[in-house]
Amino acid sequence: MSIALPPNSTIGIVGGGQLGRMSALAAARLGYRCHILTPERDSPASQVSAGTTFGDYEDPAALRAFAGRTDVITFEFENISAEGLDLLASLRPVRPSPSVLRISQYRLAEKRFLNRIGVPTAPWAAVDTLAELDTAVAHIGLPAVLKTTRLGYDGKGQALLREPGEVAAAFAELSPKPLILEGFIDFACEISVLVARGSDGTMSTFDTVENGHRDHILDITYAPARIPEQTAAAAQALARRVAEGLDLVGVLAVEMFVTADGRVLANEIAPRPHNSGHWTIDACPASQFEMHVRAVAGLPLLPAERHSDAVMKNLVGPEEMALWPEIVASPGLIPHHYGKTEARPGRKMGHVTRLFPRGGLPGAFGIAAALGSLAPAEPD
Ligand code: AMP
Repeated sequence: MSIALPPNSTIGIVGGGQLGRMSALAAARLGYRCHILTPERDSPASQVSAGTTFGDYEDPAALRAFAGRTDVITFEFENISAEGLDLLASLRPVRPSPSVLRISQYRLAEKRFLNRIGVPTAPWAAVDTLAELDTAVAHIGLPAVLKTTRLGYDGKGQALLREPGEVAAAFAELSPKPLILEGFIDFACEISVLVARGSDGTMSTFDTVENGHRDHILDITYAPARIPEQTAAAAQALARRVAEGLDLVGVLAVEMFVTADGRVLANEIAPRPHNSGHWTIDACPASQFEMHVRAVAGLPLLPAERHSDAVMKNLVGPEEMALWPEIVASPGLIPHHYGKTEARPGRKMGHVTRLFPRGGLPGAFGIAAALGSLAPAEPD
C-alpha cells in the first residue's frame, strides 16, 4: 500500500463532467480538495471543487499549471492524449497510469489485451482498407458492427452492417481509419461490473448489474442484474482479471454481453467511475466514486457490498429534465442533478435512484410503478 494521502491534500481530476463532480463530492467527504482541468467554464465538476485550471487537455502549459496545483492526479475523461497524461505523470503520480489509458482509448489495443489475458470478446478484425473489410466480413459474417477505434462513445462512430450492400458506404463514412469489425452479438442482456483495485493489489468488486440502453445511451441500470448467480459471478471474475491484467489503481468498469446460452463476453472497458455504477452512491456504504478516491489516495478499500437493491434511471435531454420538478417532489426517488445549464438532446443531465430492500428488486411492472413518469416505455 502506498502512503495514504493526508486530508486536505488535493486530488487533480482531468475532465469537468459529472463523473468528476461525483468523484469530487466523494473526495470532499474524505477531507480532500479537488482541482479540475477542463476547457469549459462552469463545468459540473468545477461547481463542487476547490479550484479549476481552465485549459486545453493538449496544452503543455495548462497541463503543467494544473499538475502544480495537485498532489495526485486521476482522470474522469478518456479523450486526453496518452502523451498529455505522460506529461502529467512526469510531474505527479497519475492513477490509473497512462499505460491503462493507452489500452482503453484504442479499441484494437483493448481487444488484443482482453484476448491475451483470456477474456472472451465478440470475434473482431482490424480493417484499414475496403479490401480488408471485405475479407473480415467473409470471415466474421453478417450482421456485424463496424466501429471507429478511437473517440467512440454512446454508439457514436459505429454502423450495423446487415447486408453486403451496406459495407462500402459504412466504410467510407466512418473515420479515422483503422476501423474494427466486430461480429454482431445477439445478446440476451447487457451487464457491467465495477471493480476497485488498490496499489497493493487488493480489490473490491461491486455486484453485477444489468443495463438497458435507449438510442445507444445508457437509460436504466438494474442492481443486481436479473441473471443466474453463476453468470453474475463469472462476470465479476472477468472484471477482476481485467483489473489485475492492467495493474489498475482506481476503479474500472467492464461492459459485457450475456449470450442466450449464458456466455459472458467483454465489450468495453473504462478505467474510471462509470454511469452504470451510479446506483452505488445510494445503495452501498462506499460508492464507486468513494472507492475510486480511496484507491487514488492510497486509502484502504472497503467491501463493495450493497445494502439495497436499486434501479438507476438516467435523465437525458430536455424531455426528461422537464420532469425534474415532479422528481424532486416524489418521495422514494433520489435525485442527482449534474448542474448543467443547457439540456441538449442526448445530453446526460442527471439521474434518479430508487432503492428496494436487498433481494427485493420487483419485476418489470413493479419497477415501472416505482419510477412513475420515468418508467421505460416498454418494461423489459
Ligand atoms: P460501444 O460503443 O462498443 O459501447 O457500443 C454501444 C452499444 O452498441 C452497446 O452497448 C451495444 O448495445 C451495441 N453493440 C456494440 N457492439 C456490439 C456487438 N458486437 N454486437 C451487438 N451489439 C453491439
